[in-house]
Amino acid sequence: MKVLGLIGGGQLGMMITEAAKKMPEQISGVIVLDPTPNCPASKVGAKQITADFKDEKAILELADQVDILTYEIESGNSDVLKQAESKTEINPSPETLRIIQDKFLQKSFLAENNIPVTEFLEIKSLEDIKEKINQFGYPALLKARRDAYDGRGNYRIKSPEDIQLAYNNFAGKSLMLEKFVDFKMEVSVIAARNTKGEIATYPVVENIHENNILKITIAPARVSEDIAKQAEKIAHQTMQVLHGAGVFGIEMFVTRNDQVIINEIAPRVHNSGHHTLQSSKTSQFEQHLRAILGLRLGDTTLVHPTIMYNILGTGEFSGKYRISDFSQDNLYLKMYGKDESKPQRKLGHFNLVDQNNTLGVQGLLESLETITKKIKFIQA
Ligand code: AMP
Repeated sequence: MKVLGLIGGGQLGMMITEAAKKMPEQISGVIVLDPTPNCPASKVGAKQITADFKDEKAILELADQVDILTYEIESGNSDVLKQAESKTEINPSPETLRIIQDKFLQKSFLAENNIPVTEFLEIKSLEDIKEKINQFGYPALLKARRDAYDGRGNYRIKSPEDIQLAYNNFAGKSLMLEKFVDFKMEVSVIAARNTKGEIATYPVVENIHENNILKITIAPARVSEDIAKQAEKIAHQTMQVLHGAGVFGIEMFVTRNDQVIINEIAPRVHNSGHHTLQSSKTSQFEQHLRAILGLRLGDTTLVHPTIMYNILGTGEFSGKYRISDFSQDNLYLKMYGKDESKPQRKLGHFNLVDQNNTLGVQGLLESLETITKKIKFIQA
């Protein structure tokens, strides 16, 4: 029996905590570190230490209290986690986190291991952008190397006039430049590696973003067998070279000429894996726990085609909200217990499941269209 420590208690931490509660023979309790009082994970039974994710004292205090430590965010303090490794087992390893949380190091690492990634270059100055952008042409993407998520760290440079603006946008941050990929689809693979080196991947899924935030995941992705195989192979190779155990979300592009390349990796359970709660034999949350506990990995078979839809705060209002009723038999709604809505905030999701395997992805998409018309936010 182990006490599980968790850095980050948002919706991912909440669903990891729920999975942990279903494994009472292995996990006796969960302690979460999160800056927001009454974070979502605490609402489903995790004990909370309220402090910043990077707070050295709080991280070490958490490490002292638990037998095994993991995280749901990639912006943790990998240096402090390295120190904490003497106190408790941490997975994925802090060294893997250090590489992944810097997009430049991450892409360099993948490229060194012959895993296909978008073309990229390190940027040290304004002059550097002006010179290096000629290798890629326009548009190109200037990205913050660290602490960026949901596309907030990206600036699209469309013409030479944008270069200065793009550079100013990231004052003081370390940067990289990326060739713009004119992709035909964004896909991802949820992959797992356990502490004994066993690897398992879920079938590739299709992701639709709105304003750089994931809106819809379609499982399985509407791709050819060849593309599905490429994606799975890349995910497998990635798991072989990354150290440490856990679930990883591997985001990829399918290019116009049907090549699959990695956009980026998340060293944690991933929004595009939420469908597994209903679609698959093993949810990604249980899989993550199995991986870090060194249990045999669960079956990743997709049993029912499923569409995951993210419920995001709308631009119309902020504050306390209630949501209209759009329930139906094959719709599994999961709200994250966040009291206040803000524009674009991830408040919940639902899985629309082809329970009898008769609708197919097309049927699910038609049903989704009807449902989304019924979703309304009501001021509470
Ligand atoms: P990121 O936060 O870097 O994953 O980027 C967020 C979104 O920006 C991705 O999901 C893509 O839609 C888009 N994006 C990122 N990098 C590129 C690229 N090199 N070419 C085209 N689109 C990109």
